[in-house]
Amino acid sequence: MIASVLPTYNRAPLSFTLGEGSWLTTDDGRRFLDLGAGIAVNALGHAHPALVAALTEQAQRVWHVSNLYRIPQQQALADALVANTFADSVFFTNSGTEAAELAIKMVRKYWHDRGEDRPTILSFEGAFHGRSTGAIAAAGSEKLTHGFGPLMPGFKVLPWGDHDALDAALDESVAAVMIEPVQGEGGIRPLPDPCLKGLRAACDRTGALLVLDEVQCGMGRTGRLFAHEWSGVAPDIMMVAKGIGGGFPLGAVLTTEAAGAPMSAGTHGSTYGGNPLACSVGLKVMEIIADPAFLAEVTRKAGLLRQKLEGLVAEHPDTYTEVRGLGLMLGLQCRLPNTDVTAAARDAGLLVVPAADNVIRLLPALNIPDEDLAEAVIRLGQAASAMTQA
Ligand SMILES: *Cc1c(COP(=O)(O)O)cnc(C)c1O
Repeated sequence: MIASVLPTYNRAPLSFTLGEGSWLTTDDGRRFLDLGAGIAVNALGHAHPALVAALTEQAQRVWHVSNLYRIPQQQALADALVANTFADSVFFTNSGTEAAELAIKMVRKYWHDRGEDRPTILSFEGAFHGRSTGAIAAAGSEKLTHGFGPLMPGFKVLPWGDHDALDAALDESVAAVMIEPVQGEGGIRPLPDPCLKGLRAACDRTGALLVLDEVQCGMGRTGRLFAHEWSGVAPDIMMVAKGIGGGFPLGAVLTTEAAGAPMSAGTHGSTYGGNPLACSVGLKVMEIIADPAFLAEVTRKAGLLRQKLEGLVAEHPDTYTEVRGLGLMLGLQCRLPNTDVTAAARDAGLLVVPAADNVIRLLPALNIPDEDLAEAVIRLGQAASAMTQA
């Protein structure tokens, strides 16, 4: 008999009843140090007092109104995003997948309105843009697409890091290039700054739009508000979600005026997107994370964690082989199977998230205390010892 919850997840045998900062407590009273943060969602940890206050204050006023009306909280969050990024305009969604869908629609509408036939969006192996029909077609991997054909046409998936393949593919038939500045599900693979610069220049040569998926690497995760800022170039369109809601479902598409203007009244919509609850929380998250002093702290903590992880790899080469990533978006490539390492870490009271390329992801809350970072590395060491002694 099928489970009452559709069995699309292999779930760990844990359920949490309380979250405080970077710690989660189970129903039977065990405490876990959370370095997964709901997969980069709980960017300010669990139950951050300022977010709890923002949510509960708004909850006592009005939860939901339709986008048929003006929503001041949505307006305020859009203004904050526009003031702090490349963007001129923002559309709010409830998830990263919805943001990816809109980004794809925007690219198509942009070229439609210019009267040019540009059927192809270039994307990259190892990408993850969500689970909708459009998003799985964009990523293209067998793992995501198997059994779900016919796939939505209009994507060409290129090898990661193959400049010649990109040069050959990027012609006047290309509407846009879609890429994560740091691949998350793909195994924490950062796109080097010169590559993002080169990609921007290549797009400019043919007019193709540059679409960045910062759903996982954005919102302060790498130590800048958005990861592309490290390279000094800006996209035309950007998807955001995960951290922007700090745990409340919220996503967004940020766009330049040129790429956004074709989306006139009636071309797109969302019942829940940009609702007062989500935007009240999102505004508070933005206020905290966009502060340069906060971002500097992320970079300092990231340096600390990275240094400790390098030590861990040196000490446990039979378990861990390499540290990679940017800011507090770090991956540990494993010699032993990453799912076994994830389970061993769990046994040591530490939550991490597996990714492709036999990597475990460390995506702590951006405000995690230094002592919790130190404790996490101790527990990764304990996990390694337990595995190699077993
Ligand atoms: C998680 C993720 C998505 C999908 O977001 P959902 O909120 O799960 O729909 C898209 N792109 C990237 C890079 C992600 O990490």
